[in-house]
Amino acid sequence: MNLSFDQMYQASFDKNPDFEGVFWMGVKTTGIFCRPTCTARKPKPENVEFFDNTKSAILKGYRPCKVCKPLENPDETPASIQELLDELSENPGLKFKDYDLVKRGLEPVTVRRWFLKHHGMTFHAFQRIFKINSAFKKLQQGDNVLDVALDNGYESLSGFTDSFKNIFGVSPKNSKSEKIVDLKRIETPLGTMIACATENGICMLEFSDRKALPTELKDIAKHFNANIVQGDNPHFKTLEKELKEYFEGKRLDFTVPLAPVGTDFQKKVWEILRTIPYGTTKSYQQQADILGNPKAVRAVANANGLNKISIIIPCHRVIGTNGTLTGYGGGIWRKQKLLELEKAILF
Ligand SMILES: [Zn+2]
Repeated sequence: MNLSFDQMYQASFDKNPDFEGVFWMGVKTTGIFCRPTCTARKPKPENVEFFDNTKSAILKGYRPCKVCKPLENPDETPASIQELLDELSENPGLKFKDYDLVKRGLEPVTVRRWFLKHHGMTFHAFQRIFKINSAFKKLQQGDNVLDVALDNGYESLSGFTDSFKNIFGVSPKNSKSEKIVDLKRIETPLGTMIACATENGICMLEFSDRKALPTELKDIAKHFNANIVQGDNPHFKTLEKELKEYFEGKRLDFTVPLAPVGTDFQKKVWEILRTIPYGTTKSYQQQADILGNPKAVRAVANANGLNKISIIIPCHRVIGTNGTLTGYGGGIWRKQKLLELEKAILF
């Protein structure tokens, strides 16, 4: 994607998030460089220059802006919080109180703010839900309710029953017919992704800033008639391993089982997407041709747009007939990065 100076200046002026990761702006008068979305006052056009990576800005002597921190992944999970998440994942019965956080050198307020921002709930609420998820699975396997309550760190059966009812709307004893979909945040070099899985496979993998995310989650909950709850799922392990290898350029296709949610037509279109080889692209027209319905270009494009399993169902490999990068749910800059990543390995 070759952008003109004017386009980049305008995008920067508009603080347009679509251009995050596409270019960086150096300010000649101050010697600092910024992301397009920086909230600092924008300088006059004659005082700026643009870079397509942070390295060349630094090589030219620019320092990173303190406001927009262009060298930090804006959405990355801090290591200290990742440790908490890992420990909880290992042992859902753990309970971190404010005092425990302080002992680890963490500010409870900061942790609370991070969880509110990224999970829409406090850390305490998060732990509660995580625990309940794990308890739910044990109950489904036929474990005794009291054992499950105690194993998961509840001090009383009534406390467990109340928490359980709050989330599932039924008591633990009556939960056999209830279903859940597990949800997990996964960090990638292109930002945080949200994964959802059932026992059959991954049903969602989306960048956490995708606008359609809440709608997709609602769709999934409705389809499975289930609650979506933060928790572990064996498919997440495979997914994380394969995603990591993919981003390192070591994996060309995925083996993790999928459980896509969509109409028969959409599933057919997504199947075609999965046949587009790594490092190559096809147009919507070609995709419609493969479907055997050359006139269905628009329907194919729509179905691509409704794909909820990014990267693995590679809708980023479909581009406009004239080679342009058309829309992408995760932002055009990510589509560009994914295609660049795949090309770098093959050629
Ligand atoms: Zn800045």
